[in-house]
Amino acid sequence: MGATVSTLAYLVSSVLFILALRGLSHPETSRQGNLFGMVGMGIAILATLLRPGMGGGGIAIVLAGLAIGGTIGTVVAGRIQMTALPQLVAAFHSLVGMAAVFVAAAAFYAPASFGIGTPGHIHAGSLVEMSLGLAIGAVTFSGSVIAFAKLDGRMSGAPILFPNQHKLNLALGILMLVLIIAFVATGNSLLFWLIALLAFVLGFLLIIPIGGADMPVVVSMLNSYSGWAAAGIGFTVGNILLVVTGALVGASGAILSYIMCKGMNRSIINVLLGGFGTTGGGEAGPGAGNGDRAPVKAGSPEDAAYIMKNSQKIIIVPGYGMAVAQAQQVLREMGDLLKKEGVEVSYAIHPVAGRMPGHMNVLLAEANVPYDEVKELEEINPEFAEADVAFVIGANDVTNPAAKTDKSSAIYGMPILDVERAKTVFFIKRGMASGYAGVDNELFFRPNTMMLFGDAKKVTQEIVQALQR
Ligand code: NAP
Repeated sequence: MGATVSTLAYLVSSVLFILALRGLSHPETSRQGNLFGMVGMGIAILATLLRPGMGGGGIAIVLAGLAIGGTIGTVVAGRIQMTALPQLVAAFHSLVGMAAVFVAAAAFYAPASFGIGTPGHIHAGSLVEMSLGLAIGAVTFSGSVIAFAKLDGRMSGAPILFPNQHKLNLALGILMLVLIIAFVATGNSLLFWLIALLAFVLGFLLIIPIGGADMPVVVSMLNSYSGWAAAGIGFTVGNILLVVTGALVGASGAILSYIMCKGMNRSIINVLLGGFGTTGGGEAGPGAGNGDRAPVKAGSPEDAAYIMKNSQKIIIVPGYGMAVAQAQQVLREMGDLLKKEGVEVSYAIHPVAGRMPGHMNVLLAEANVPYDEVKELEEINPEFAEADVAFVIGANDVTNPAAKTDKSSAIYGMPILDVERAKTVFFIKRGMASGYAGVDNELFFRPNTMMLFGDAKKVTQEIVQALQR
């Protein structure tokens, strides 16, 4: 295949990737979007294999990489639980970061193979691209490893703060800039590794102060970093498709981070600087007691069915626990039964409910919940005051009023679903544990709250049975 044909094939792939992103922006078109992405990647791989100068050895290496990576990817994707996707994504981002570091090192030690000069005489422009790819890649790697550890519960999700943390981050950032300038001027190998080391440390320091509730923003931000790292590699290896794809991932990740920041009422600059302004929060942990508060009122599925049957308007608020219990199907059955009874049913989606962007939308779509019944936070919040029941199933942080009232709370400032305005609030959860951010939820003790203790799927099944009686 000639160089022009391969460039043309890359262009077609780029367009397909853009269409894929467009398709993924709505649940109805997401399957088609995925298909565009897969076809685009297929064309890209084929065009790479048929590129002039690939040779038998090159093709064998690419095919071996595809076989090993493809097998591992297939096995992991087959086994992974939907609820563990965020940590898987973080782990994958770390691989992109590390790949950028390896490519930068390969280009530095064998520049001739990349057509960027000879050892000790690498073009200045290539040194700039290489050092940026190296720095962003190393930050992405160590930052993603920490994000993985936090999301997977291997380290505490609480913010790790120490005095002068932001000044230290800023000083290290400036030092990094100085090292990059010195490296571009001299091409010194010691400086190359110092940049890598400093970037690894910086990635670590940027993510440790970020508390549990802000992790969604971090995941999308690291997604963006991994895209820019890939674009950096693209420049180094002179591959236009990698530059385009990396930039697409980088830009879409940045836009998603911005949207998530808006959803969480956080400043994107603060998050970029590593939890700048994080106040932390010494809230109660899982299983927190009720102190001197009113006793908790617990009800049965039969009670809930009776109250809901006699309601006019019910708003269902799904959260992480619904995903864990895989209760979406039976939840829709419950919604259908209530609609037959003449009850108005809608579903309220908080932008960070669950453990990944769009988590609840995906699950509800999987259960064939009509899209027009699914409403976003701004749209649904005014409706809680008119609702007879807020049916909170496995959600916690996204309903917690501490976000509005407690300045010392880790979730302070995050917009929440105003479920407490409904006449009756049901919380379906297994016990009194706090949510992901580790913040005690005072709503459990309110007079208009009824706790329905148990696994979300089991409790909802029992409600469905009671409704059918
Ligand atoms: P949450 O605050 O984590 O609360 C989930 C609740 O579900 C828990 O309190 C738990 O209580 C209950 N639960 C767990 N398993 C259950 C089961 N089988 N049946 C019934 N209940 C069950 O969830 P959320 O309200 O959806 O809020 C999401 C949180 O995750 C936010 O803090 C958000 O910032 C964070 N986060 C979001 C993303 C994202 O992109 N969406 C990514 C990372 C982190 P029990 O143990 O008592 O049952």
